[in-house]
Amino acid sequence: MSTTSAMQVPFVDLQAQHQAIRAEIDEAIAAVISKGDFILGKAVSLFEEEFAAFCEAKYAIGVDSGTSALELLLRAYEIGPGDEVITTANTFIATALGVSSVGAKPVLVDIDPVTYNMDVSKVEQAITERTKAILPVHLYGQPADMDPIIELARKHNLYVMEDAAQAHGARYKGKRVGSLADGGAFSFYPAKNLGACGDGGAVVTNDPEIADRLMLLRNYGQRKKYYHESIGYNHRLDTMQAGILRIKLRNLSAWNEARRRHAQRYNELFANTDVVYPVEMDGVESVWHLYVVRVEEREALQKYLSEQGISTGIHYPVPIHVQEAYKSLGYPEGSFPITEQYAPQIVSLPMFAELTDEAIQYVVEHILAFVEQRAVTSR
Ligand SMILES: *Cc1c(COP(=O)(O)O)cnc(C)c1O
Repeated sequence: MSTTSAMQVPFVDLQAQHQAIRAEIDEAIAAVISKGDFILGKAVSLFEEEFAAFCEAKYAIGVDSGTSALELLLRAYEIGPGDEVITTANTFIATALGVSSVGAKPVLVDIDPVTYNMDVSKVEQAITERTKAILPVHLYGQPADMDPIIELARKHNLYVMEDAAQAHGARYKGKRVGSLADGGAFSFYPAKNLGACGDGGAVVTNDPEIADRLMLLRNYGQRKKYYHESIGYNHRLDTMQAGILRIKLRNLSAWNEARRRHAQRYNELFANTDVVYPVEMDGVESVWHLYVVRVEEREALQKYLSEQGISTGIHYPVPIHVQEAYKSLGYPEGSFPITEQYAPQIVSLPMFAELTDEAIQYVVEHILAFVEQRAVTSR
């Protein structure tokens, strides 16, 4: 059935990523310990400058997770109880949690059937007089269609904030995501395209007032130690993580390029088969955080692949409105047909910079063998 011999193909391989830069990471950690500036130390402000430059944004504010980045971004715009924020039903739970954490209500819309991102044509009907912001997600690393979203927001006087947790470095019409509108939230969860050795996140924005507010919000509401201007929180990025992120940021463009090559290779191998593979939209540059295909009998396929040494994931098995936590939003089943139709079909294939061409070939061969055999059996 297969021409290649047995392999182990992990879903992500952080070991492989760290191997090449291990000495530099160790050095960065040691430097922080020697200096002792663990909280808001030098590496934090240096990383913030470098990450802002990478994002082609004026400001980056380091925080302790992507979820905190979303929360603080919403707080900086004074979004809270009684307000509504429009996002999509097919996203990681943290998108909705960010909205809930400030006391606002997540209002969901379905996804576009081709891009899996916010279906812009569904947004206007979701706007009420309580709506304050639209929060598109650049899902799987592909930018959402920002121009019509921003246009709609301007018409209704709403903010637009990007959940860029999966899209560090992605481009929309030539511009890096994150500061395409009012601000963007990034996550440095270890498995993200840019990941810390622990939790981390950042907000980017071009607005100096918002940047200033974020600096206060993440650090007890203080500008000067023990003088508190506003109610604040403790959501700082650790100096040690910032030191590690500085090393990794230097490699991010090369890693994203490698992901783009892998995606292209997968696409070529899946062309003209029964596997529905992802499409990169015109005018965008995805950074392929995930490579997600759709198949019938997803569970059986995953089991089969696992027996061949291939690990896969599902992003995400349960849409936001079907989650127990969000039953109270009151969306009945059938509310978001595309999201619901895709949830049992999607499967995320191995995708990381160090993935080899041989491994991609091995994964695709086994998927096609499985799909072929099912087709024969059901005939
Ligand atoms: C990872 C992720 C987050 C949250 O980031 P954490 O750092 O895990 O809090 C938010 N939104 C999306 C789309 C994500 O993938």
